[in-house]
Amino acid sequence: MDREQPLADMPEEKLALVERRHEYGDVYTYLFKPAHPIPYEAGQYGHVRLYDMPAEVKPVHELSFASAPHEELIWFGIDSRSKSPYQQKLLSLVPGDEIGLFKVKRHMLWPPQGSDVVMIAGGVGITPMRSFLVDAAHKKLPLTTTVMHIGRGPFLYGDELSKLATKYQTVGREDLSETLAAVVQEHPDAVYYVAGSPSLVETLADTLAHAGITRIESDAFKGLLD
Ligand SMILES: Cc1cc2nc3c(=O)[nH]c(=O)nc-3n(C[C@H](O)[C@H](O)[C@H](O)COP(=O)(O)OP(=O)(O)OC[C@H]3O[C@@H](n4cnc5c(N)ncnc54)[C@H](O)[C@@H]3O)c2cc1C
Repeated sequence: MDREQPLADMPEEKLALVERRHEYGDVYTYLFKPAHPIPYEAGQYGHVRLYDMPAEVKPVHELSFASAPHEELIWFGIDSRSKSPYQQKLLSLVPGDEIGLFKVKRHMLWPPQGSDVVMIAGGVGITPMRSFLVDAAHKKLPLTTTVMHIGRGPFLYGDELSKLATKYQTVGREDLSETLAAVVQEHPDAVYYVAGSPSLVETLADTLAHAGITRIESDAFKGLLD
């Protein structure tokens, strides 16, 4: 299967902003209502176009769905730390304003080929993990899920995910090696999902592969700051 191919030949769809939730610091969740049902699966990402952008600015960014397909609204959890023109435009949107969504794709396969699942995310890399966990709960998938959220805190969706996951833990970079080694020892045959900044994902995927983990699904959020 070619993961880079768009999943459905869908035209650009309009989504209307319903709410922007301030999560912490520069991180916001944007909740949008689609004009038509959007065909997507848990853990996928779409190309999000902002309208009326200056000509020299890239108006399209890839964003992972933080929502699960059965939820009424589409969620994007966004780190706007860079204060780029794209982020400033997002921050200026008011309820009712529209964005475009097209080319929905996947980097990570779901549902997993196994019942033991470990999800490791850095910062807003947790967005596809929320999508997976909400989907798994909705479909009552018989999974054991271990979530490791890496960061300094606060932890995006932490309250919700700690209830959805079998085990939820947060970890700082200083304790990462030790915690990861313990998780690998406990779950040597699990399917591992890894998402976050490209450098973090590369390091984690290398470490897991060296530790003998063979089933690794990863999503490097190109452009996301470390
Ligand atoms: C599959 C995928 C899923 C993502 N999901 C999320 C998400 O859920 N939440 C979230 O906050 N971010 C996500 N991102 C990152 C997002 O697309 C933006 O790159 C990020 O928000 C930075 O954009 P910006 O406007 O702040 O900075 P920009 O000014 O656009 O970029 C910051 C820096 O990154 C470089 N850059 C930007 N885009 C790319 C790219 N595609 N490839 C290589 N370099 C690039 C720029 O040249 C610049 O140096 C995802 C990225 C990918 C690829």
